[in-house]
Amino acid sequence: MAGRPRVGVLALQGDVREHVALLERLGAEVRRVRRPGEVDEIDGLVLPGGESSVIDKLSRSFGLQEPLRARIRSGMPVYGTCAGLILLADTVLDGLAGQQSFGGMDVAVRRNAFGRQTESFEIALDVPVLGPAPVHATFIRAPIVDRVGPGVDVLASLPDGAVVAVEQGALLGTSFHPEMDGEPRFHARFLDRVRAFVGA
Ligand code: GLN
Repeated sequence: MAGRPRVGVLALQGDVREHVALLERLGAEVRRVRRPGEVDEIDGLVLPGGESSVIDKLSRSFGLQEPLRARIRSGMPVYGTCAGLILLADTVLDGLAGQQSFGGMDVAVRRNAFGRQTESFEIALDVPVLGPAPVHATFIRAPIVDRVGPGVDVLASLPDGAVVAVEQGALLGTSFHPEMDGEPRFHARFLDRVRAFVGA
């Protein structure tokens, strides 16, 4: 099926609007996902930045956790930024008591890894798979990837070696927020995965 990729943005909390705008600019047909039935109407999903513990709780009370886990297991492409990366991680470090994730990616991600001194910062980041031009990366109370499983590719690290962008099959995660800087290349990569997933 050629045509516009049909993707969702999990719209329980966080920077939903920025993702929707960028995905639409890239030609996708975008739905805001809030109800379990909507999980079956998409071929890819973005998990936005925000507060992972809040998104986790809301997803459980709205009955979204199980349907989302099932779609992720079935190979649907997902891109998580910041809190979204935390939600994609099989293991969450420094989570709130009882905090859960959807999982799917064989990584351990540490919340708020930069501490109070460094609430937010911006950096030019090399991401070789996206080409030679660096990514302008904005980190806001950001997580880092503490442990990377054998099937996971590291796409970018900070100068001190902290891993901040990872990919495992159709799952992509970044500690930072390309959607806030109008950086389209991660979302374009995600949409390529979606097109491959539907066999377009
Ligand atoms: N600190 C947030 C969390 O734990 C993530 C911050 C963000 O998404 N910008 O979920």
